[in-house]
Amino acid sequence: SIIPIAAAVRTTCPYCGVGCGVKATPMADGALIEGDPDHMASRGRLCVKGSALGETLGLDGRLLRPAIREGGHLRDAGWDEAIGTVASRFAAIIAEHGPDAVAMYVSGQLLTEDYYVANKFMKGYVGSANIDTNSRLCMSSSVAGHKRAFGEDLVPGCYEDFELADMIVLVGSNTAWCHPTLFQRITRAKELRPSLRIVAIDPRRTATCELADLHLPVKAGTDVWLFNGLLSYLARHGAANEAFVAAHTAGLDAALLEADGCADIDVVARTCGIDPRKLLEFYEAFAATGKVVTAFSQGVNQSSAGTDKVNSIINCHLLTGRIGQPGMGPFSLTGQPNAMGGREVGGLANMLAAHLELDQPAHREAVRGFWDAPRIADKPGLKAVDLFRAIEAGTVKAVWIMATNPVVSLPDADQVKRALARCELVVVSDVSGATDTAAFGHVLLPALGWGEKDGTVTNSERCISRQRGFLPSPGEARADWEAICQVAQRMGFQGFDYEGAHEIFDEHARLSAWKSSEAELARAFRLDGLVGMGREAYDALEPVQWPVLRGREGTPRLFGDGRFSHPGGKARFVTTAPRAPVHKTGGEFPLALNTGRLRDQWHTMTRTGKSPRLAGHSPEPFVDLHPHDALLAGVKEGELARVSSRWGAVVARVAHSGGIARGAAFVPIHWNGQTASDARVGAVVNPEVDPVSGEPEFKHTPVRVEPF
Ligand code: SF4
Repeated sequence: SIIPIAAAVRTTCPYCGVGCGVKATPMADGALIEGDPDHMASRGRLCVKGSALGETLGLDGRLLRPAIREGGHLRDAGWDEAIGTVASRFAAIIAEHGPDAVAMYVSGQLLTEDYYVANKFMKGYVGSANIDTNSRLCMSSSVAGHKRAFGEDLVPGCYEDFELADMIVLVGSNTAWCHPTLFQRITRAKELRPSLRIVAIDPRRTATCELADLHLPVKAGTDVWLFNGLLSYLARHGAANEAFVAAHTAGLDAALLEADGCADIDVVARTCGIDPRKLLEFYEAFAATGKVVTAFSQGVNQSSAGTDKVNSIINCHLLTGRIGQPGMGPFSLTGQPNAMGGREVGGLANMLAAHLELDQPAHREAVRGFWDAPRIADKPGLKAVDLFRAIEAGTVKAVWIMATNPVVSLPDADQVKRALARCELVVVSDVSGATDTAAFGHVLLPALGWGEKDGTVTNSERCISRQRGFLPSPGEARADWEAICQVAQRMGFQGFDYEGAHEIFDEHARLSAWKSSEAELARAFRLDGLVGMGREAYDALEPVQWPVLRGREGTPRLFGDGRFSHPGGKARFVTTAPRAPVHKTGGEFPLALNTGRLRDQWHTMTRTGKSPRLAGHSPEPFVDLHPHDALLAGVKEGELARVSSRWGAVVARVAHSGGIARGAAFVPIHWNGQTASDARVGAVVNPEVDPVSGEPEFKHTPVRVEPF
């Protein structure tokens, strides 16, 4: 139908970390989706995924009422019975085995309000920090890198900086496909000002490289050498901002500038597999350009050295003082719509709410007191990969999985299957009842989806933006925060009687403001200006970048005054000793498997898979190979091949994009186990993690390819 049945609603796209504004007009048979010209993050732009949102709203495949598994079969249950089952089983397991025997595994797809309540439930009332999130797989290395350098998990700049920069360095980021409307802004800026120099650093020649003046096809896992080399070059060629370094930083020493041959461009170029002339061209351009934005994404984060990679980039910006001013700074591009919101409320197992620290007794007591909670977790919980190991080992006996599909998305995904198969209680909250993870659920809880639920998300530039409902709640689906509150109340916990999402947001804002005044715990994350919003003001909230100190005025940039969040106010250089990926290629497994996203799909396709238009871009899983490697493996373009590692195998069609180096293979992450042949590439990926962040090494698994 082309006749609207209600006025347009302004909301936010549920996919990537750009966080575009969407205008959704309800129609008799769905919704008309347009870009919101008034949204600061996107100014009316939408990519192909966002534009196709209207095609994903049908109820086919939706989980519409709670279900309980009995004798191997699911049967419908009422909410009352389902909530009672979850609450009583959680309570019994805690009583017998202690609070660390239960866990939650949540998601960057949750709204901040859902995340806040989940974190409060686990850390303040259950008394365990065993709540981790799929954001661990996405940007936890950036979180750890920010905390080491700045003293707090902060992205200093904003999207406008990409338009104001004279040079943009995109590291491990296929921005054209993974953050498309931001890439449109970069493209437009380049069209208007061709002197804007764009450098792409990526082992693959991706769509992003088409816009780049320079592509450095860095060998997988060698980014730290490249940026340590840059740091050394900058210091040796007079590009250091000595006044800034002296006044606002600590930790710069000679060892950092000379380690591991990084002062020798030929050594660095050889290690990174880059033409030394191109490397020098990059170093010279970086040294000569004041306004540089270095944006990085999963190619940096998803590594056993991910945190060091992040810090090696930040080090270069600290040395040159290029941070906190228009058109410059390191910039973490987050993958998910609300990865940042989850970080604000402490949704990772090693964080506390409101950017406070779990390992600091004063912070713990501040949060416990604010919540009036009976207890507070006093040590970090299990990070994603370790959590599922603990489930398999039987030390964690109950897990509540919310808005994520770990049987597809975690590394060594068959281990996740084994873990869930032996777990005493698996609760799954999702919009779909037919996911690989839901197949292991003992209790399934139907969740509201995009267009139905109400709350906030925070994008990569710290912009808090409302997601607003414009569709009726289908079946018996409920908001995730409501389900958590009901379980909490049934377990006898106080403090979970919210009237609506606005009350949760208000509590979140008050906690951010309260800690600094009452507990004298100064942090940049502050929402003072958003305290006290009633339902109406919350419903009308315009996108705003935190910190929000007074009024509804946001803060586009941080650190402009040279003050950082470490005690003493100085940023810290971090010594980053280069190290190779944990598992080497060679022998039985000669190729390095890299995994990543495609332009037109999202995560495990439970939503984008509904749109025929999106499926047209890439209808089936493929393995991208260099033709020479295909020849050696005895496989041909267009034919099926098996990709195997020590951990598992997947079948995919051989493709030659022309963008992949010899010795490498690329398989997209999206396909799941619901297809004729199980297409979960997660089963092939090694489970090594970064020792600081716990982020898995998705970008480097030794594999072999053979005819299927
Ligand atoms: Fe959605 Fe990201 Fe596309 Fe914007 S760029 S419409 S947030 S998927």
